Amino acid sequence: MKYEGMIFRPPSEAESLILQVTVGCSYNRCTFCGAYQGKSFRVKSFEEVKEDIDEVSCYGSRIDKVFLADGDALAIPQDDLMRILEYLGRKVTGLERVGIYANAKDILRKDVKQLEVLKDLNLGIIYLGLESGHREVLKRIKKNATIDQMIRAARRVKEAGILLSVTVLLGIGGLEYSEAHAEETGKVLSEMDPDFVGALSLMVIPGTPIEKEIVSGKLVLPTPFGLIRELELMIQHCRFTKCFFASNHASNYLPLRIQMPGEKEEALRRIREVLRKKNPALLRPDFLRAL
Ligand code: SF4
Repeated sequence: MKYEGMIFRPPSEAESLILQVTVGCSYNRCTFCGAYQGKSFRVKSFEEVKEDIDEVSCYGSRIDKVFLADGDALAIPQDDLMRILEYLGRKVTGLERVGIYANAKDILRKDVKQLEVLKDLNLGIIYLGLESGHREVLKRIKKNATIDQMIRAARRVKEAGILLSVTVLLGIGGLEYSEAHAEETGKVLSEMDPDFVGALSLMVIPGTPIEKEIVSGKLVLPTPFGLIRELELMIQHCRFTKCFFASNHASNYLPLRIQMPGEKEEALRRIREVLRKKNPALLRPDFLRAL
């Protein structure tokens, strides 16, 4: 397999074969994101991708999950993506599910029928970064999508029968918007009603615009217990049909795995207990958070 640069994938794709079909992110301007710094976006040619698929095809029956990297591979034009998925399905005979990162605009460029076609070609899960449900925060971090677009994109994915996993970022609103960010994010997540939510804590990547805001004092980050208070408020405002909500990412101080709505109250009870005791020993230590 020929990978260009660092490869990122969602934690839940740890067992998947990573097939790099694009390089970098077509947008690449979110202020907190350093994942694809220095990578110019390009869609790999079909011949390049085919070569990688051919290389693994001898293990075809043993590969059940594939993740298409990089940052927003759903930006690939529909016909080209269909061609890749068709070929992958033919060569990887054990294939059950393909996952992909997407931003809201990539999704909205496709109608439900097009997404259904991709689903029939094994596209089983889309990972979408909401980061914040607060309008001002979303604008400040230059997320390149409005709340309305995020919600419409989420509904379109679900209407096509594809699983939706949404990522949000604790701390991204700074102290100024801390509580409002948490509450609004919980409400917007409820409107999106995804199958999975991953709550991560903001990790400041050197060289990113958000690092400059922090160094200049423009953005002040909440304390670890401030982040846990955000988690509490967010969960409190979430109303899901059926969702697995996880804060067990390595960036978080309090790892939780919650089946919503059933385990919501128990999770809130646990979070409030931690907030009441304010004992740092109850938190994941910083050296274990180093990613
Ligand atoms: S869209 Fe995603 S990958 Fe691209 S810059 Fe923003 S957070 Fe990073």
